[in-house]
Amino acid sequence: MKKRSAKSVLKIEILSLFPGMFIGPLSESLLAKAQEKNLIQFAIHNLRDFTKDRHRKVDDRQFGGGSGMLIKVEPIYNALKKLGRVLSKKKSRPWVVYMSPQGKKLDQSMAIELSRKKNLVLICGHYEGIDERAMKWIDQEISVGDVVLTGGEIPAMVLADAVCRLVPGVVKEWSSIQNDSFFDGQLDCSHYTRPPEFMGMKVPPVLLSGNHKEVEAWRRRSAEENTRAKRPDLLSKNLYTEISKEVLAS
Ligand code: SAM
Repeated sequence: MKKRSAKSVLKIEILSLFPGMFIGPLSESLLAKAQEKNLIQFAIHNLRDFTKDRHRKVDDRQFGGGSGMLIKVEPIYNALKKLGRVLSKKKSRPWVVYMSPQGKKLDQSMAIELSRKKNLVLICGHYEGIDERAMKWIDQEISVGDVVLTGGEIPAMVLADAVCRLVPGVVKEWSSIQNDSFFDGQLDCSHYTRPPEFMGMKVPPVLLSGNHKEVEAWRRRSAEENTRAKRPDLLSKNLYTEISKEVLAS
């Protein structure tokens, strides 16, 4: 599998009916810094800009009746054509993701895979979703959980955030990513900071000992205990995937 070079930029383009929803999340914290450092580029496109009628109409009633409107196929086709997806057979064409409750549930190994792409296009649905015929140009459907949200904007932000922090250089210390929950198939260990005692609750003494070997052993045990207590399902799944191993090796 191809590795992302430390210098290449990941471009994330988002197709949405509500581009204003992205202003806050993309202009704060690590996502803002990643853009300043030119590790990530975002482009938010308004689906209405890809309509051809006077009223910039993106939705219509469903054939066969039923409540709720549907996003039409034409604006999605026009947008993907402009972004280089529709007719292009080039390997460099963007990878198109439709945020959908019907997709595969997002997890860390999917985020790692996506962080290695050069260009992602995230489609945010609304109303009852999108005309099924648009699926012809969609590479992957991704869900953020077995729950239905009003639109794909918040799921797209969740996905973009998870992917961006895996791009080398976005998070300062790569070791903090390796120690995060899910990376090696289990949860992270428990963490403590000052003060060493609060309302009679003491920090485990080993963490104050300065003995790195013992601290490391304690952290491994704590991660295992957390996994057993909170997510025992992970223990049987062997989520220490090939992709995590590969990222570790590199
Ligand atoms: N009728 C659709 C269904 O039941 O499959 C749900 C439509 S939902 C109200 C509108 C849009 O929100 C979807 O097109 C999708 O883009 C987004 N969405 C809702 N829930 C989501 C989830 N769990 N994960 C990702 N996107 C979601």
